[in-house]
Amino acid sequence: MSNKSAILIIFTGGTIGMIKKVNNYVPINFNELIKYFPDIDKLNYYLEIIGFNPPIDSAEMNPKIWVKIVEIIESNYTKFDGFVILHGTDTMAYTASAVSFMLQNLNKPIVFTGSQLPIGVHRTDAKENLITSIEIAGCRSYGKSIVPEVCVYFENKLLRGNRTHKSSSNEFNAFKSNNYPILAQAGIDINYNLNVISKGALKSLKIHKKIKNTVAILKLFPGISRENVICLLKNDFFDAIILQTYGCGNSLQEKWFIDELKEFTSKGKILINASQCETGNIVQGRYKTSQQFIDLDVISSFDMTLESIVTKTMLVLGETNNKKMFKEKFQKSFCGELTKVPK
Ligand code: ASP
Repeated sequence: MSNKSAILIIFTGGTIGMIKKVNNYVPINFNELIKYFPDIDKLNYYLEIIGFNPPIDSAEMNPKIWVKIVEIIESNYTKFDGFVILHGTDTMAYTASAVSFMLQNLNKPIVFTGSQLPIGVHRTDAKENLITSIEIAGCRSYGKSIVPEVCVYFENKLLRGNRTHKSSSNEFNAFKSNNYPILAQAGIDINYNLNVISKGALKSLKIHKKIKNTVAILKLFPGISRENVICLLKNDFFDAIILQTYGCGNSLQEKWFIDELKEFTSKGKILINASQCETGNIVQGRYKTSQQFIDLDVISSFDMTLESIVTKTMLVLGETNNKKMFKEKFQKSFCGELTKVPK
């Protein structure tokens, strides 16, 4: 192989590779997709492509497919300098978060991208997103990758994968990283913000594949009923419930609600405090309306995105449902998904 960067493109599906049939967008396979991009092999990279058969709308993504993606990366890790994963935008933030937690000690770029308009449409955003993602995945300095982490590239911005959130269903600028700075901005040049990009690991790659989905999200709203709350808290299937609270982690104070939380935690089960806000931190105890969470040893998710909280919970539950051990692992940063670790 020459000194061209070698990039593996993994095409999972998504709008980037869809066409309109009657009234709906449906996926096409990669051979069809590539016809819309005849110049791809003229790029100055060594490219190989693996396409899912059939490609999927990312609304159909699930943990088994995360494992499949990670296994493809694992078995090609030494052969390639970087990886570009074409993925639907709907659940891209979940997959990018999960994959970042599953691939520990990463020192090569894994760049997720997709598009809001299919590649065959005149005004498509697919080509720019794909070409720049390839460039980022292949960018090296003194033989070392510039961005050795899992990230999302979309509409001129490179974001840390486990900090992203799909914020718009119709703007080209579809993703936000509310609690972490942009890793790079693409204009005429690609300006890398080296101070906030991971330095890459020295240890060898370690894969985590055990995932347990015994987790649920309980989103609070004024007027929430006991029936709504207990259908999750009284269901023995769940090892962990993510409470989506208000502001920096506050909730209603009604006795029935606190009693249900008490009963749930008394069984050794895990309650996680996550905010409905997109920016900021959970600070339990700042208001009296979150003191009960300290008393019940509810686990703060700090400034993690909901996508990171859900996927990290599934991965940590794959290792343990012991509350103490869970808390220790969950509140540690695996790969930059949380900023502050208050005591
Ligand atoms: N439903 C599509 C998907 O997530 C949307 C997209 O790709 O933008 O696969």
